[in-house]
Amino acid sequence: AKTVLVVGGGLAGCECALYLAKHGITVFLFEQKPIQFSPAHVSGYLGELVCSNSFRSMRDEGPQSSGIGLLQAEMHELGSHVMAAAYAHSVPAGKALAVNREEFAKALTGKVEENPNIRLIRKSVRNLEEIEALKAEYGAEYVVLATGPLTSESLAQSLSAAVGSEYCYFYDAIAPIVSAESLNTDSIFRGSRYDNVAPPPYNDEVARSAELSKEWREKMQAEMLEFKQKQAAEKGGQQEMQEENDGDYLNCPMHKFEYEAFYQALLDAEKVPSRNFEKEVHFEGCMPIEALAERGEKTLTFGSLKPVGFTDPRTGRRPYALLQLRAENASADAFNLVGCQTKMTYKAQDSVFRLVPGLENAEFLRYGSVHRNTYVNAPKCLDGNLAIKGHEHILLAGQITGVEGYVESAACGLWAGIKLASRLLGKELEDLPLTTALGALMNHLKNAQMKQFQPSNIHFGLMPDLEEKTKKANRKTLMAERAKRDFAEWKRHFWDN
Ligand code: FAD
Repeated sequence: AKTVLVVGGGLAGCECALYLAKHGITVFLFEQKPIQFSPAHVSGYLGELVCSNSFRSMRDEGPQSSGIGLLQAEMHELGSHVMAAAYAHSVPAGKALAVNREEFAKALTGKVEENPNIRLIRKSVRNLEEIEALKAEYGAEYVVLATGPLTSESLAQSLSAAVGSEYCYFYDAIAPIVSAESLNTDSIFRGSRYDNVAPPPYNDEVARSAELSKEWREKMQAEMLEFKQKQAAEKGGQQEMQEENDGDYLNCPMHKFEYEAFYQALLDAEKVPSRNFEKEVHFEGCMPIEALAERGEKTLTFGSLKPVGFTDPRTGRRPYALLQLRAENASADAFNLVGCQTKMTYKAQDSVFRLVPGLENAEFLRYGSVHRNTYVNAPKCLDGNLAIKGHEHILLAGQITGVEGYVESAACGLWAGIKLASRLLGKELEDLPLTTALGALMNHLKNAQMKQFQPSNIHFGLMPDLEEKTKKANRKTLMAERAKRDFAEWKRHFWDN
């Protein structure tokens, strides 16, 4: 019989092991608990939910449909054991899927322990050398590494050495992503730093008034012309300083009073407390925006919100501060709030970021966060089968690949199992269409166009845009319909489970 080692009995590891076992593959599943615990795991059960008990929204149709609702439905259709256990042990939570964590984990553990094709071995695997030795000992062809965001220290170091330390990360500082269609383009403008250098703000009180007087505007324009001519000579040198000179950026300019309101809200906002094991020194590039704000009122205006080199179209002058939005995908239907990684609660992010001009009605596709997370730069170091390039017999699954969230991690484990089982049984399975939730999520791990790979939840922004123009109100309904249609089509043609 074919044999696979799975390391890590979390959501991804269990899902992968159970799928392989169902197809007659022998699995040796290594789990370090209860001999060794990560700083967040506390129970001996497999599939432990380390924080909230929510699998998020179940909506997969209509105007409120969500990527996560679609992903859950697709997983269920592919025979997900995690979803089956979640449905069986759900607790009332409206249109969200929440579970009794203890019963859920107990059920998943039971499924693994009772499966005749799985042998559960409670042991911490130290490093890739040990993995190679275990592979030889058990006669396995492949190893699936699903040790999660809190992979044990020595194994994480060994993985980092294998993929290249520049492609393995231990901290995750992610900025929120908002949908393009929710942006208010009255104040937002497209352009790069130093494209159009303007003089500093003229008078904030004047700028505040919506009705700029004709005289003032003319005076300003004349001054502006003069200023531009003076700047033209210096422009060459400044151009070299451009960090973000990309036409893909949108810019949210702020008057002084707008910045002050935003700044104060950052200070006052409710933050997610750091867990003890997370109280490490943040390195500068990962500092939460509110932590930078705490250093002083002007810190952000000299840092990630610096306005130099931009012109506020509302005044024709340099804004007091400016927030940049970077396109998340080629179709530019989702934008990342540059430099806005944060530990503010989701609720606080809703209100604080909406104080920025242009983001008044922002729809958050993903919220920001800063937390401990071991993951690799998947597009650089994994191949289309989730195997480590150069170590093609070692696959990664779950959060360690750069997906984010309980359901996404389990989905990734399921897909790793599906692909591997097909291969071991002599078939090559066609990938899912990018218009489906699981197809879009797995494609995120191959998206080499992203300048800076970042972990992602599933959201509509990861899917290609609709071909036809449609009203904003219909968009989610149509994207969900398309996902379901394409998933069913794929299943009909390629799935012979
Ligand atoms: P895990 O579920 O963590 O499973 C990995 C397993 O591998 C663990 O059982 C671990 O003990 C084992 N292991 C580790 N190293 C070794 C080793 N060397 N040898 C053998 N076994 C090993 N997502 C959400 O959707 N909602 C949340 O509220 C949420 N909160 C989170 C809070 C924290 C503190 C963290 C770190 C993450 C959170 N996540 C949350 C994100 C993430 O989706 C979950 O952590 C999810 O459980 C990841 O699934 P996984 O299977 O990849 O890893």
